[in-house]
Amino acid sequence: MINIGILGATGSVGQRFVQLIQNHPWFRLTELAASERSAGKTYKEATHWFLDEPMPDAVKNMKVKSCDPSALNCDIVFSGLDSSVAGEIEENFAKNDFAVISNSKNHRFDSDVPLLIPEVNPDHIEMINVQRKLRGYKRGFIVTNPNCSAIGLVIALKPLHDAFGVKKVFVTTMQALSGAGYPGVSSLDIIGNVIPFIGEEEPKLETETLKLLGDLRDNKFVNADMALSAHCNRVNVQDGHLECVSVEFNKRPDGSDSEIVETVKKTLSGFSAEPQKLALPFAPANPIHVVLEDNRPQPRADRNRDKGMAVTIGRVRPCNLFHVRFALLSHNTIRGAAGAAILNAELLYKKGYI
Ligand code: NAP
Repeated sequence: MINIGILGATGSVGQRFVQLIQNHPWFRLTELAASERSAGKTYKEATHWFLDEPMPDAVKNMKVKSCDPSALNCDIVFSGLDSSVAGEIEENFAKNDFAVISNSKNHRFDSDVPLLIPEVNPDHIEMINVQRKLRGYKRGFIVTNPNCSAIGLVIALKPLHDAFGVKKVFVTTMQALSGAGYPGVSSLDIIGNVIPFIGEEEPKLETETLKLLGDLRDNKFVNADMALSAHCNRVNVQDGHLECVSVEFNKRPDGSDSEIVETVKKTLSGFSAEPQKLALPFAPANPIHVVLEDNRPQPRADRNRDKGMAVTIGRVRPCNLFHVRFALLSHNTIRGAAGAAILNAELLYKKGYI
């Protein structure tokens, strides 16, 4: 068993890590860390637990530590740290031989740090060798996972990009409250309301997609050549980001509009990649589920498909402006954060980087 620690264990993403990592076949949770406000308390005392399932007994009396590498006994740290502090703390852990698997934005665009979705760009982990050389890390490294709304979108775009080449994407998101952390948006701001702004979210979607769907060439990340326009909204939903997407391809698939729709549905539902081939414990059997009901996907009904790791796509239909449009849903704190990071760690372990 590999010992793991969670940085930011008391937060929204941290709690998901704690919940999901229980009974993992390869990883054993040995350390919980957060800010000085929480350090020294038991996890139960330090955490305002708000997941639907109760806090696991195994963590209730574990002591929360501060984010100090010399105090933690583990090989991997999953980071759900607030981005105001994540950058420096994560570097410090990597320098001290920890594998750092981060959810925060701070290192996503470092030229030597993989931004990883194992179904999309598993080859990008080779950059770890360059990172270690450039930064003088011996056993440690930093790998990041993308923003929660980018993960669902990019998993949907990947098989389409491989088959037809994606040229333009127009996406409107309806993002759940848990994506803003705890306590997040004030109830008086969101009840009976929609907020058509999420700080920094639109640029994240528009830029992370290009790195994820891009190539690794001569030790450099080369962005995919496509254009995206994103509109991001916060809605009164607990978990699960819904996204309405229109896509134009480089080459229009053959056939009538309805034949194109069928081809796209088949391409999406047939998608399978490296995590499925390697049978990684957190890999969904099918990364994409295509549903046929007119009124799906919906957050409550579809977010937990395949342990919350699958993306659900519905309403695939012709688009009056681009070639095709559809709605997608993914669980923002599982597929979009903690589950994604655990899958990253599984790939890195299986490939010998940990
Ligand atoms: P959150 O609920 O606000 O939790 C933040 C965590 O950071 C808490 O554990 C907090 O500990 C810790 N922290 C704050 N200041 C610290 C300091 N000075 N030193 C050490 N620890 C400190 O936030 P979140 O929603 O879980 O998000 C965590 C990160 O993941 C963010 O960077 C976010 O952008 C990213 N992310 C979130 C989602 C999502 O769906 N929520 C999805 C993808 C990525 P205390 O409790 O002790 O203050």
